[in-house]
Amino acid sequence: MYKLTLIPGDGIGPEIVDAAKNVIAATSVPVNWEIVNAGLEVYEQEGTLIPENVFESLEKNKIALKGPITTPIGKGFQSINVHFRKKYDLYANIRPVKTLPGIKVPFSNIDLVIFRENTEDLYIGIEKMTTPTTAEATKQISEKGSRRIIKAAFEYAKTNNKSKVAVVHKANIMKLTDGLFLACAREVSKEYPQIQLQEVIVDNMCMQLVMNPAQFEVIVTTNLYGDILSDLCAGLVGGLGLVPGANVGNNMAIFEAVHGSAPDIAGKNIANPTAIILSGAMMLEYLGEKNKSDLICKAVKEVIGQRKYITKDLGGNATTTEMSNAIIDHMLTIKNHINA
Ligand code: ATP
Repeated sequence: MYKLTLIPGDGIGPEIVDAAKNVIAATSVPVNWEIVNAGLEVYEQEGTLIPENVFESLEKNKIALKGPITTPIGKGFQSINVHFRKKYDLYANIRPVKTLPGIKVPFSNIDLVIFRENTEDLYIGIEKMTTPTTAEATKQISEKGSRRIIKAAFEYAKTNNKSKVAVVHKANIMKLTDGLFLACAREVSKEYPQIQLQEVIVDNMCMQLVMNPAQFEVIVTTNLYGDILSDLCAGLVGGLGLVPGANVGNNMAIFEAVHGSAPDIAGKNIANPTAIILSGAMMLEYLGEKNKSDLICKAVKEVIGQRKYITKDLGGNATTTEMSNAIIDHMLTIKNHINA
């Protein structure tokens, strides 16, 4: 029995997390969920964005599935996601992006994984007014922070038989910060002579991705570029509702969709549950339950491919519940087929 933390989150979070929980239950992987919550609603009730029981649960269970969380806009609130990533040193934000059958997009052959550095760069949150009319932000890149995310990307490439890793940077302008990241990539790549290092400047990367995305297999980059490129790549495969993610450190992993809490569609049972369901599949793979993870991915592909039970963002009319139930039905059919 796995004891795991479940954080429903805000906005569409509770709806899609519930869907993912039901899908995971249908795999028959034994999970005992510890449900704790953080975010705006919790803040309104308890006066704190992240109650102590959330930290306790994460520190005890080490693995969590998390819904999107709204950080109130305004002074004094650090993003909750950034807080978790920094506090637990979840340095690798891993985001697989794949085209799925049945989605009308310009390219049918995208299959790449983004490794976004998760703890440094402009996200360290150091900003100041240097004069009453000038603001400055600190961009921090370290050798340690760069090497470990780059190594994670190369290790992934090696394990998954990928032939190239693209490092994305702007070292021609930010010679010290991005220059260091690029230098680390060149250094680390020497340990992997069988894998080609593609060096791509971030603006060129944007163009390459919208013209010929299939040339990329693994992308590794700093925090802010990774954030922006993830959304761009999500758009290439049909939108934010489809792309899962993992925040992984040496001692903990939190799995969550790339998208935010989508307050514009919250509470209507129309959010696409795919991204969080696939995040759940990534979590099962992390736990060593590869067959069960594959089962979820296969069922998701079939449901989307058939286009009968898909949500509005994908051009359908199904509710969140109908889509996740269809995924569960497909999983049971596949399971029965295997057992027959
Ligand atoms: P954040 O800053 O937390 O990333 P955001 O406000 O930039 O959040 P999202 O909350 O991800 O962005 O929403 C962006 C758009 O994508 C919204 O119009 C939202 O409705 C849509 N969207 C996001 N997730 C989904 C989903 N799972 N299903 C359908 N539409 C979604």
